[in-house]
Amino acid sequence: MPAHCCRSVAGAATARAFNWPGGAKAAINLTYDDAIDSQLDHALPALNKYGLKGTFNLVLSSQPLARRMDEWRRAAEQGHELANHTLFHQCSHSAPGHEWVTADNDLDHISATALAAQIRLANVMLHAIDGRSERTFALPCGDLLAAGTP
Ligand SMILES: [Zn+2]
Repeated sequence: MPAHCCRSVAGAATARAFNWPGGAKAAINLTYDDAIDSQLDHALPALNKYGLKGTFNLVLSSQPLARRMDEWRRAAEQGHELANHTLFHQCSHSAPGHEWVTADNDLDHISATALAAQIRLANVMLHAIDGRSERTFALPCGDLLAAGTP
């Protein structure tokens, strides 16, 4: 999947009164998509070096996640967020520029009900990794429809 393929919905909530910790006027959310090896090899050590925390949007079926589960668990223990980026990173083939989406990973042919069940399962899997029950969700490719349904 191409870089910069995803859009987080973590900040999509409606505006409401909020005071940033320490009287800050704003915050920056450092996010990393797709659970790729370079995030554990480079991004995580750099974040830790400077005392920063990141949000890592994990695709639960990814091989790097399966191979390096203990390192992802340790990242969560260090205070980094492990977010739900679905089981399979399915995207809409019909969206502009999405010719690379394969038929078996095409969100145009997966029902919203099935996708919701996959997202709930991904939350259970993430809970098994980090023990947390509240979860950020990041849309793969920013696609808002599954089989044409929101
Ligand atoms: Zn992604």
